[in-house]
Amino acid sequence: MTDERTLPEPFKIKMVEPVRLIPRKRREEAIREAGYNVFNLRSQDVFVDLLTDSGTSAMSDRQWSALMRGDESYAGSRSYQLLSKTVSCVFGYPHLVPTHQGRAAENILMTMLVEEGDRVVGNMHFDTTEGHILLQKAKPVNLLIEEGYEVVSDHPFKGNIDVQRLQDELERHGNRVPFVLLTVTCNNNGGQPVSLQNIKQVSEMVRAHDIPLFFDAARFAENAYFIKQREPEYADWTVQDIARKMFSYGDGCTMSAKKDGLVNIGGFLAFADREYFDEAIKWQIPFEGFITYGGQAGRDMQALSQGLYEVTDIDYLRQRTGQVRYLAENLRRREIPVIWPPGGHGVYIDAQQVLPHIPPSQFPGQSLVVELYIEGGVRGVELGSLAFAHEDPDTQEVVHPPLQLVRLAIPRRVYTRRHMDWVVDVVTKVCRRGGQLPGYSLTYEAPVLRHFTAQLEPIGAGKASE
Ligand SMILES: *Cc1c(COP(=O)(O)O)cnc(C)c1O
Repeated sequence: MTDERTLPEPFKIKMVEPVRLIPRKRREEAIREAGYNVFNLRSQDVFVDLLTDSGTSAMSDRQWSALMRGDESYAGSRSYQLLSKTVSCVFGYPHLVPTHQGRAAENILMTMLVEEGDRVVGNMHFDTTEGHILLQKAKPVNLLIEEGYEVVSDHPFKGNIDVQRLQDELERHGNRVPFVLLTVTCNNNGGQPVSLQNIKQVSEMVRAHDIPLFFDAARFAENAYFIKQREPEYADWTVQDIARKMFSYGDGCTMSAKKDGLVNIGGFLAFADREYFDEAIKWQIPFEGFITYGGQAGRDMQALSQGLYEVTDIDYLRQRTGQVRYLAENLRRREIPVIWPPGGHGVYIDAQQVLPHIPPSQFPGQSLVVELYIEGGVRGVELGSLAFAHEDPDTQEVVHPPLQLVRLAIPRRVYTRRHMDWVVDVVTKVCRRGGQLPGYSLTYEAPVLRHFTAQLEPIGAGKASE
């Protein structure tokens, strides 16, 4: 009876935010005016917004009431003390450095520990992490297991690091590796989890080389839940105990609270040892603000503290991961190619398989994204050539990423199963007439991170929107 795919949401709705499906003609106009880039749409013109799961969570009644108890003192805030206690309890790290969001924590960590020419090793660094490594003129090294790159695989932990390659890396370049960073879950290949066994192995290896281990903990609770489900040894453990166990193998973490903090903005660094804390606050103060607020209001820290408890609740996690799987399974049943198994925060469609007639240079993923919006007001995001293609600095040739993906990220506690059913119908309709969808060409692009501001137009006679 407790099939988590069909179990109702474990919450009642106390406050609503109306959403509207504007008429199709208006959607066609809106996307044209947006230069066929969904980042340029006005949110009120979107019906089901699956652009990102970052900062889009719904807060609980307890979090909203926690806001009222925020202590806005510049120094020594009670809300900092509370958050510090919570992080110590949930993560096991007693030394807390709040930041305004996850990338600010990365900025501090990289500034304090990374030097030019270093190699920062991980399973697969998130974009902003990679950006901060590059800003230090260091090299990001991704050692994800092979299965992690496969679209369909039955590996239960596609976020694991390849321990053999890690061993080689440490033997060859150990003296240039300031730390190893495990991203849990691994965002860039679809929110795939890292096993406790893998964490333990990595920890033993880095210890042998006297190298610290940090976590990018943005989706730590989703990762802990997958461990409970898929790693038999931990089936009877609580999610809280699993999370503590994960972090016990590391020296600290960076956190984007916009994900598993269940808040709309915020982040932090947390450390096991005082040494790292002392080093971090040297940079926190100039970058983020004083130690006891670091870019957050007291009320933000108060709501985050509550969110960190709620996010490890088993009923919440069952529904959360169940909803993602529900969407993925229903798309798969309609023969829509999705990354398998689904991860913790969204469903990824292989747009190249759906639209084989559109070459990567004409952005098949973007074509699908545009059509999903026109068809049903659903906003997803392209993670293919529009986001990641780049020129090879030596040959000047365009290098396309291995996959042309469309991500449907699911905000936490925001949409119901009816919304997911709507998305399934919209995606199915669009994919069935995939052969008629046009490719796109760029009419404007910024020099870096172009997908956020790019302007495009449909190519040729294929009629996307008229
Ligand atoms: C979102 C994210 C970040 C960056 O956090 P922001 O709060 O967006 O700055 C870092 N790592 C991972 C894995 C993320 O998903």
